[in-house]
Amino acid sequence: MDENFDRIVNCPLCRGSLECFCRRSTARGDSGESYFFKSYCDRRGEQEGSNYQTDRCPLCDGTGTALARVTDSTKNCTVCSGAGSVETTVKLDIGARRERAHCSACGGSGKKAYQLIEIKTFASAPESCYFSFDGGPRCTVSQHANSVAVDLEGAAKAFFAKWQPASQSAYLRGRREKERKEAEERARQEELRQQELKQRRIREGLCLTCGRALGFMDKMSGRQIHKQC
Ligand SMILES: [Zn+2]
Ligand SMILES: [Zn+2]
Ligand SMILES: [Zn+2]
Repeated sequence: MDENFDRIVNCPLCRGSLECFCRRSTARGDSGESYFFKSYCDRRGEQEGSNYQTDRCPLCDGTGTALARVTDSTKNCTVCSGAGSVETTVKLDIGARRERAHCSACGGSGKKAYQLIEIKTFASAPESCYFSFDGGPRCTVSQHANSVAVDLEGAAKAFFAKWQPASQSAYLRGRREKERKEAEERARQEELRQQELKQRRIREGLCLTCGRALGFMDKMSGRQIHKQC
C-alpha cells in the first residue's frame, strides 16, 4: 500500500453501503458487431426508469471504504478561464465601450487554488464505474483501474469530510499481515532451496560457489570450493 495514502474514506461508488447499481448496455464495435458491456454507477443524478439493477460494489472489496489522500492543486480560474482579465462593458455618456479589466475572482493570476482528493480503491473496476456528488461533475473509474481524483468542492467536500487515519483500517492491517506472512514464507522456501542445493553439491563433489565439478587438487586439499571461486 502506498504510504502517502494516509486516510480511509467511504467508498465513492457505493457510499459505504456495499451496494451500487449496474446496467447492461449494448454498443457497436469498430466493425459493426454489437456487444454487451456493463457499467456500475451510484445512480445519483441518473434518470429514473432505466434498467438498473443493484449489484455488489466492485471497488471496495466488501469494506465500503477506499484509501485516499488530499493534495493542493491549482486550476484555471473559472471566471476568466485562466486569462487573468475579463471583458466588461463601460457605459459612456453616449454609447459604450468594451474593456478588459483585472479579474477580481483570481486577483489577475488566472489560477485558482483548490484541493484534490485522490482515491485508490481496494479492487480494480471490472467495467467502468462512475459516480457524482449532487449534480457535480461525473467521476469515472475506468475499466481495470483503481484510482480516481475528485475536486474537493461542494457536495464532494462534504462527503469526504468524514475520514479515518489509514492506520485504523482493520482491512488494511489484515492485508499487510497477509503480505508479511507471504513474504516470510517465500524467504523460508528460498532458504530451503539454498540448503538443498548446497547438500546436493556436497554429495556430488561440486563447487559450492559455481556448481561446477571440483578438480583433483581441490578434493585432495579437502576444499568444497574452487581455489579461484
Ligand atoms: Zn464500494
Ligand atoms: Zn480569474
Ligand atoms: Zn567454483
